[in-house]
Amino acid sequence: MRIYNTKTKTIQDFKPNKEGFAGIYTCGPTVYHFAHIGNLRTYICEDVLVRTLRYAGYEVKRVMNITDVGHLSSDADTGEDKMLKGAKREHKTVLEIAKQYTDAFFDDFKALNMVMPDVVEPATHCIPEFIHMIEVLLEKGYAYRAGENVYFDTSKLDNYYVLSKQNEDELKVGVRDDVDADENKRNKSDFVLWFTKSKFEDQELKWESPWGYGYPGWHIECSCIGIKHLGEYMDIHCGGVDNIFPHHTNEIAQSEAYLGHPWCNYWFHVHHLVEKDKGKMSKSSGEFLTVSVLREKGYSPLAYRYFCLQSHYRKPLEFSYEVLDQMSSAYKKLVNRCAALGTDGDIDREAFEKYSEEFGEAVCDDLNTSSAFTVLFDVLKADINDATKRALVERFDTVLGLELLKAPAEKETDSELEAYVLGKIEERKAAKKEKDFAKADAIRNELLEKGIALEDTREGVKWKKI
Ligand code: AMP
Ligand code: ZN
Repeated sequence: MRIYNTKTKTIQDFKPNKEGFAGIYTCGPTVYHFAHIGNLRTYICEDVLVRTLRYAGYEVKRVMNITDVGHLSSDADTGEDKMLKGAKREHKTVLEIAKQYTDAFFDDFKALNMVMPDVVEPATHCIPEFIHMIEVLLEKGYAYRAGENVYFDTSKLDNYYVLSKQNEDELKVGVRDDVDADENKRNKSDFVLWFTKSKFEDQELKWESPWGYGYPGWHIECSCIGIKHLGEYMDIHCGGVDNIFPHHTNEIAQSEAYLGHPWCNYWFHVHHLVEKDKGKMSKSSGEFLTVSVLREKGYSPLAYRYFCLQSHYRKPLEFSYEVLDQMSSAYKKLVNRCAALGTDGDIDREAFEKYSEEFGEAVCDDLNTSSAFTVLFDVLKADINDATKRALVERFDTVLGLELLKAPAEKETDSELEAYVLGKIEERKAAKKEKDFAKADAIRNELLEKGIALEDTREGVKWKKI
C-alpha cells in the first residue's frame, strides 16, 4: 500500500506501527449545519482509504470526533462560536443543534454507503481529558496563561510548520489584517487551549476548570480523542486540505509536546469540491448543496459517490450538474450491467486471483480509483463466465461501496407503484391547499424514503425513481 503523506510531501509505502493493523483518525464534522457535498467528498475518500486498507488485509480501527464545542467562525481562534451561531439561527440550544446535525450527518453517511467509524466521540464528552492535557502542557512549559485564557506557545517548538511549510511572514500579514486579532498571544501563531474569556461572552456550554469557568479551544479535541482511542502512536490522520493549517498543524504541536515523541506518521488530505467561479464549497456561505438537495433533484446519493470516485482525491473536483448527469447515467448503466450477471457455473479461481490482484494494485497505488474502474470494466468485458465476474464485482465493491449488485436496476415504472405515487401527489396537493406544509413535507419525505423524488414544475408535479 502506497499513500501520499502531506508530512513528507511524497508517496510512501505504508508501514504501520503494529504489523497488520492501521489506526486511523478522522476529523469529524462541526455539527452546526448540514454537511454539504464538499464535506462529504472528503468523507467518501476517507471511506475508500479505510476500505482499501481492509482489502489489503489490514485490521483497521477508525476514530472520529464530533465538533460540538469550541470551533470559532475563524480558524484563527476569532469570531463567534459556530455552534452558538447555529443554535441562534434555529432558536434551539447548542446541544439540540448538535444532536440534530449529528443525526443528519450519519444519515448522509449511510446514504452514501460509508462504513461507520469504529469510535465516534463528541468533544463535549471529553472535557476532563482536555483539562488533563492542558495541565500537562502548562507543566511542561508549552502553554501559558494570558488575559484569562490558556494559550499554546508555538515558539517553544523548532518545527511548528512541519506540515504546512508556511512562511511565518506570510502568516503574520494574514493575522495582522484580522480585525479580531488577540493581543494576549505572545506569538502570532499561538492558539487557544482553554477560553474563560473571549470577545463573545454568551457561550452556552461551559465547564469548571483549574483556569476558571470556560470552554476548550478547537484543536485540543482531536489530539485528546485520538490519543484516548488509538494510543500514543497513530498511523494515519485524515481531513480536507483546509485542515492542514491551522488545525492539523496545531494538533501535531500540542500532541507531540504532550507526549514527548512523534505522534502520527501519515497525513492524508483530500482536496476540495469546488464550484465554478465560486471556489471551495463552504457551509458559511449561505446556500449550499446537500445530499437531500441532490435527492430532491432526482439523483441517487450513490451516483454522487460514483462521481467522486471518478477523480483522484488529491485533485480539486469541480461540481456541475452537467457532469453529475453524465455520471448518474453511467452509474445506472454500470449497475444494470452488473445486476444482469448470472450466477451459474464455477468460479474461475485463476482469473479471480489475477483480477483481484490488479484491482488491489490500482487502489493501493495512492487510491487510484480511476485505474480501479478500468480493471472493473476489463472484467465485465473479459472472456470469463458470469459467476466469476459476479464474484469479482462483489469483491471490488467492498472498496468502491457502490452497491453494484444490490441497487435495483432501472426498470419500467410498474403500474401499481405509479398509482400509489399519484395518490400521494394528490394528497400532498390537498395538504398544500390547506396550507398544511408540514404534512406536505412529510409526504414528500415518505416518498423519498421509498426512493421516489418529486419535482414541482410549471407543468405540475413530476416524479422519478432514485
Ligand atoms: P467541518 O464540518 O467544517 O469541520 O468540515 C468537515 C470536513 O470537510 C473537514 O475534513 C474539512 O476539511 C472538509 N471540507 C470542508 N470543505 C470542503 C470542500 N469544499 N471540499 C472537500 N472537503 C471539505
Ligand atoms: Zn481534527
